[in-house]
Amino acid sequence: MTKPCIITVAITGSVPRKENNPAVPITVPEQVESTQEAFEAGATLAHVHVRNDDGSTTSDPEKFGRLKEGIEKHCPGMIVQFSTGGRSGQGSERGGMLFHRPDMASLSTGSCNFPLRIYENPPELIEDLAAKMMQYDIKPEIEAFDLSMLYQAVRLCEEGKIRAPLHVQFVMGVKNALPVVREALEFMVSELHRLMPAATWTGAGIGKDQLTLNRWSLELGGHCRTGLEDNIRFDKTRFAASNAELVKRVADLCGQYDRTVATVAEARKLLGLRPAA
Ligand code: ZN
Repeated sequence: MTKPCIITVAITGSVPRKENNPAVPITVPEQVESTQEAFEAGATLAHVHVRNDDGSTTSDPEKFGRLKEGIEKHCPGMIVQFSTGGRSGQGSERGGMLFHRPDMASLSTGSCNFPLRIYENPPELIEDLAAKMMQYDIKPEIEAFDLSMLYQAVRLCEEGKIRAPLHVQFVMGVKNALPVVREALEFMVSELHRLMPAATWTGAGIGKDQLTLNRWSLELGGHCRTGLEDNIRFDKTRFAASNAELVKRVADLCGQYDRTVATVAEARKLLGLRPAA
């Protein structure tokens, strides 16, 4: 039986657009439009940050609210996931927009090095963000940038601080964190299945390795993430034209691995989310 693949689109990267691919959406209307194109190409989950109009990052709850509203209006049933990552502000401010009750929010369960800085997730902050997600009935997506983060997520789940079943995203190819190593991914997936048999997972590859992780995830039964946040190029020769182009590439690949592209109803069911409003 073929297993549907949930395609996540991470629409907006962290580099100001003027130094970057002009297709990266910055303003809320641009983000809504880009998400709608990606949705029509097969994405069922939108992972979002918000930016100031000059491209700098912000944690402005009002922008998160407007973006969620726009996606819900133009992409019926699409799963909205807010980022609580380091670019969404400092400390507990990173969860300051969760009162909007998105379906999901990202949650890193440990600290690691990023290309130019430390990605700081102290235990108290992790528990604070997890508690807010519990309060607002938001499913976390565990962002595992390192092996220890998988075990810490399992522990938080066992302690009742995160609701089961877990959904984990394994991120590979961030400079100074996990490299793109097939054996490491297979080990993490087998540990996740051993410890939490009902858990689901997504693979995310950064930069040129986006496609590598898309392929491995399809082959190993996981879900896929793509989009301009992780990778601004289509290949060595050119920028990606849009988020939709990257999504379409994954949708086209599914058949090669005997997978189908999940519908919004399938994606919500696989992740144990409430039906679309
Ligand atoms: Zn992100």
